[in-house]
Amino acid sequence: MQAAVRPVFLVFFVFLAAGACAAPPAQDGERFGLVIHGGGGVMPRAEMTPELESEYRAALAEALEAGYEVLRRGDTAVDAVEAAIRVMEDSPLFNAGRGSSPNIEGDFELDASIMDGRTLDAGGVAIVRGVRNPITLSRIVMERTPHVLMAAEGAERLARDHGLEPVSPDYFWTERRWEMLQRRLEEDIPYGERPAPPGQEPDREPDREAGLRSHELFGTVGAAALDRHGNLAAGTSTGGRIGKMPGRVGDSPIIGAGTWADNNTVAVSSTGLGEYVLRLLGTRSVGDLVAYRGLSVDDAVEEVRQRFVYMGATISMIAIDPENNISMRYSGDGMYRGYVRQDGQVVVKVYED
Ligand code: ASP
Repeated sequence: MQAAVRPVFLVFFVFLAAGACAAPPAQDGERFGLVIHGGGGVMPRAEMTPELESEYRAALAEALEAGYEVLRRGDTAVDAVEAAIRVMEDSPLFNAGRGSSPNIEGDFELDASIMDGRTLDAGGVAIVRGVRNPITLSRIVMERTPHVLMAAEGAERLARDHGLEPVSPDYFWTERRWEMLQRRLEEDIPYGERPAPPGQEPDREPDREAGLRSHELFGTVGAAALDRHGNLAAGTSTGGRIGKMPGRVGDSPIIGAGTWADNNTVAVSSTGLGEYVLRLLGTRSVGDLVAYRGLSVDDAVEEVRQRFVYMGATISMIAIDPENNISMRYSGDGMYRGYVRQDGQVVVKVYED
């Protein structure tokens, strides 16, 4: 009897052992990190109430914790970027998802992108309406279509086909962004500025549209992560610059402009007037400076940021490299930002240190 049972157990244990070997390792290394931004223009200190500041800080911390949990359990940098950005898209505080800025006609047309530094796979969506989490739709473009960038109705159909939660235009309406648009219309504030010609200093304060303060312009969200397996990823999501024309596409859904990730160099997300970032391909430039000039991630981000300053733009960026070095560089009074590494210490900042 015993002799008859033993082979069955043997097969069972062999099966178990094979299963254990086939399972992906939960942890390749101890090191991982996540850095996020919630837009490069912050409210002037004098106007910021303690309540509002703590709401921002809580939302940033929640996004970092969501991404941290993903990385801690050994999931990928792409998973962490998506998780962190979804939290910020669901918050009315940021100009992405729920709190998106309306275009000049009062419609909400959202842009987003995501990039996997392991494969250089990437996905972006532009001018999408009624999609609650454009970052997830970007990931669907990346993973489930042969394309990199999809826009408008086709992208919205893709969202429906993949069961993403549809939302009505009212979902995106917030009093704050609406008032900003009304003020822009009433005071006839022009959109953006053209860059100063090469070699010429801009004769104005960088990127200040007359009458608008920087926090009325920005608020895009982004994340960049390094996972336990040594992979980098980045993503960005936005309602776009307030006062944009219908159909306008900014930098955020464009790979190399708003988002860039390459395991060999860096993962970056940017925020600021997209018309500038598109011209210089800001995040890809950071990657090139690391790859070809051997700059550190922070020096590369700062060099690119300075190039925007010479053009007259206030561009801010966050980045992480394969060594878990983090950069958070901004123009102006501050940037909603934060990071967390494997020790789980969540660091959130709004103004200068
Ligand atoms: N980059 C975004 C855009 O131009 C705006 C922002 O970052 O605030 O659409």
